[in-house]
Amino acid sequence: MNDFDRTPHVLISGAGIAGLALALQLVRKGIRVTVVERADARRPGGQAVDLRGASREVAELMGIMVGIEQFRVHEEGIAYVGSGGRVFGRMSMADFDGEGAVAEIEIARGDLARVLLDALRTAADARPRLLDLRFGDRITAIAQDDAGADVEFEHAEAARFDIVVGADGVHSATRRLAFGPEEQFATYLGGYMAFFTLPTPSDLEPGWFALRFVPGATVGIRPDLDPTTSKAILTFRMDRDPALRGDRVAQEALIRARIAGAGWHAPAVLAALGEASDLYFDELVRIDVPDVANGRVVLLGDAASCGSPMTGQGTATALIGAHLLAAHLAATPDDAVGALRRYADDIAPFTERGKQIPGGGIERMVPASRIEGATLRALTGVMTSRLFRPLVRRMFAAGGADLSLPEIAVPVR
Ligand SMILES: Cc1cc2nc3c(=O)[nH]c(=O)nc-3n(C[C@H](O)[C@H](O)[C@H](O)COP(=O)(O)OP(=O)(O)OC[C@H]3O[C@@H](n4cnc5c(N)ncnc54)[C@H](O)[C@@H]3O)c2cc1C
Repeated sequence: MNDFDRTPHVLISGAGIAGLALALQLVRKGIRVTVVERADARRPGGQAVDLRGASREVAELMGIMVGIEQFRVHEEGIAYVGSGGRVFGRMSMADFDGEGAVAEIEIARGDLARVLLDALRTAADARPRLLDLRFGDRITAIAQDDAGADVEFEHAEAARFDIVVGADGVHSATRRLAFGPEEQFATYLGGYMAFFTLPTPSDLEPGWFALRFVPGATVGIRPDLDPTTSKAILTFRMDRDPALRGDRVAQEALIRARIAGAGWHAPAVLAALGEASDLYFDELVRIDVPDVANGRVVLLGDAASCGSPMTGQGTATALIGAHLLAAHLAATPDDAVGALRRYADDIAPFTERGKQIPGGGIERMVPASRIEGATLRALTGVMTSRLFRPLVRRMFAAGGADLSLPEIAVPVR
């Protein structure tokens, strides 16, 4: 038996951040990987995600910092603005040493996915036959036994794998097939978020993420890598409406209705909405899966655990999880099921911390009424003052930046 046959064959569902990061590390470690992604190509989109503490260390260990540097968005911080654009509070990156709401390393989610995919293709070119990357397909059934897992696909022929990894995001199909229905694990957090690209409005202060509170919503405009474009970041506080899932027309109608009277740059945001090819719109949910390993099937990234984009930690936790899972599979290739168990134990503290939302929940971030808006503006002024900086730093460290990587994940130097 050659080395190729001795390593486990791992199937990964989802080529997002978690799936690509895992595939990259497995291929580099000589482990055979098949990746199936539902979308027809790498999904662009998403606003800046931040790397700090353990996730930054993982990015360094993965050797992707050079790629990240090319796409790094340089942000000065957050500027809280009133209806006419007047700034009433700032959380500057410099004042918080990268430990506030804006971290020292920010990269758009879509660009990070591109860095990971490029690195994966390079790794696979150097090790032929280890990677089978399929876009436009998905798993439809999984049946596991003591020796492997039989998997059926929408398009490809059914096949048998040693391990199946669900890295297919917050509404994971792998989780539904192997662990139970989404309702068992998801808690609605009281709102929706939308992200998309717009031409940068002319009078925006360069480098600042400008954020405005309006009743029932926040309207944010965040710098992009290309200064001529920015990212709209909209948050809506509302009851869950199942009809919105997957219905772009209904999503756009909701966005228009909610921010039409928001003043400031809301008209520019709405003008770009209809044309946006990268609209991301989803409900804010927390995902709690008590045990992310079920025999030969394991969950990674948002599929395993998520506190919604309000935490700002989904990408960090996904990178750490991918690194730990790859390390365990490489350490005990003959005991892949045991490797999944050990990964599940090691990732638990990171997923718990990664679900915490700095500053509370949507009730603290999005005012329900004009009066709440006035209160939130006053509170923001206080919280961004010099006196409260140590407290704000502690709030953002809650994302897990202060946790250390377990020994298995750190090579002996
Ligand atoms: C387009 C997009 C934009 C995002 N923007 C932001 C953002 O701005 N801020 C933020 O905090 N978080 C954002 N997120 C979520 C963020 O990417 C995750 O929280 C984090 O990076 C963890 O990544 P993940 O790989 O677990 O999930 P994701 O990045 O969501 O990736 C999951 C992948 O699985 C694929 N997939 C879904 N279902 C199936 C299926 N049945 N079969 C095969 N593949 C499937 C999806 O197409 C996607 O490529 C975004 C996600 C997406 C998909």
